[in-house]
Amino acid sequence: MNFYDSYDALLTPEERDLVAAASAFCQGEFRSHLLDSHNQNKPYDTAWIGKWAQAGFLGLQTPRQFGGHDASFLCKIRVAQAMAEHSFAAAFAINNLQGSVTRVARQGSDKHREELLEGMLGGAILCAPAMSEPGGGSDLGALTTRARRVDGGWRISGTKSWITNGQIIQCANVLSRIGDPGDGVEETASFLVPLADGATFRREEIYMPGARSFRLSHLTFQDHFVPDWGLFTPPGQALKASMASVNSARVHVAAMCVASTRSALSEAVVYAQGRQAFGKSLIRHQGLAWELAEVSLRLEAASALVLRAAIAVQSGAPALTLAAQAKKFAVDVAVWGIDQCLRAMGATGASAMHRLAMLSAETRLAAFGDGTSEMLLDRIGKGLAAEYGPSSPAKEISK
Ligand SMILES: Cc1cc2nc3c(=O)[nH]c(=O)nc-3n(C[C@H](O)[C@H](O)[C@H](O)COP(=O)(O)OP(=O)(O)OC[C@H]3O[C@@H](n4cnc5c(N)ncnc54)[C@H](O)[C@@H]3O)c2cc1C
Repeated sequence: MNFYDSYDALLTPEERDLVAAASAFCQGEFRSHLLDSHNQNKPYDTAWIGKWAQAGFLGLQTPRQFGGHDASFLCKIRVAQAMAEHSFAAAFAINNLQGSVTRVARQGSDKHREELLEGMLGGAILCAPAMSEPGGGSDLGALTTRARRVDGGWRISGTKSWITNGQIIQCANVLSRIGDPGDGVEETASFLVPLADGATFRREEIYMPGARSFRLSHLTFQDHFVPDWGLFTPPGQALKASMASVNSARVHVAAMCVASTRSALSEAVVYAQGRQAFGKSLIRHQGLAWELAEVSLRLEAASALVLRAAIAVQSGAPALTLAAQAKKFAVDVAVWGIDQCLRAMGATGASAMHRLAMLSAETRLAAFGDGTSEMLLDRIGKGLAAEYGPSSPAKEISK
């Protein structure tokens, strides 16, 4: 049985073809390019985004009427896993672009689609969500970016931090308070903000050694003009809207962590089969085989949890606790498991010939975006009574 069979069994035949095409895309030249770029301490070449767009993957979840594939959530995570087998950061960043296309296609107005969608589907307009700030990551309520009404639009001031793809985007979906400080208005909105470096906008790379493919950046706005049509989520609804997508974002990250761990384990097993020590292959030394066996156990457990959470998200069932559990556990398994795999290969595992050091540096950062591990534990703790208490749905079913 293939590792991903239980996921793929839930896809349509057309979606299985999409996953196969994504896997084929990510093999060969792209795979080598990702590792070479990492070894040169560079991000991957953005030309690959254009090729990914040409292959139709930026429109993965865009409705067919707008030129996309209208794929399911499970298909989306399988496509992301196909890339995360080779680089977690590239998968995270490129699929983040695809998420923005989906949002504009599904939740945008006719005007948003008219202005942006064709360019976004083709990879000419790259767009990313921008919520975190220097003074507020986990605590979104600490938001200080402000948008004030002016003739024909809005003017935005503030700094967004840790923005994935921030160095390469032409548009950002910026979460902002409305009005001037002290005017008593505390509503938030989000804006599709056209970005062109100049007097009112600048970007600054956040240098992440070993993980530059996230292309993290600060984005600073100073009275930056946004036309009327740029208002995306109306005042009062933006925080709620960003929370509405949090479960799917967490399960998506968890699924990519599973894929990166599976890839690392496969690399370690192949190496341990071929490498001889003390007259037999490494894998036949019980101490080492047990270490990798432990990785396989936790990987399978993480994968089963991710699949359960993904099914809940896809079916619209309550998934707040499950999604938090899936992300917390899958990130922990990736950070610990990839390191185990690297050590099982001796010094070779840490060398530029293998992708273990890259996957290790990249997945470590998965612990922050879309809920830090502490915030997720907090969320799971708050859900304990509802999920596992005496009147929980699980108990009722087992009666
Ligand atoms: C690779 C990567 C990509 C990212 N991409 C984006 C993006 O595209 N868009 C975007 O808007 N943001 C993005 N972020 C930012 C990310 O969302 C934040 O890093 C995250 O929200 C945490 O914020 P912070 O880093 O400021 O840490 P803080 O919120 O300052 O937290 C610092 C530490 O304190 C802990 N902590 C905070 N509050 C509590 C609490 N109540 N109880 C217990 N512990 C607590 C945290 O868990 C953490 O360990 C990205 C981050 C990374 C690393």
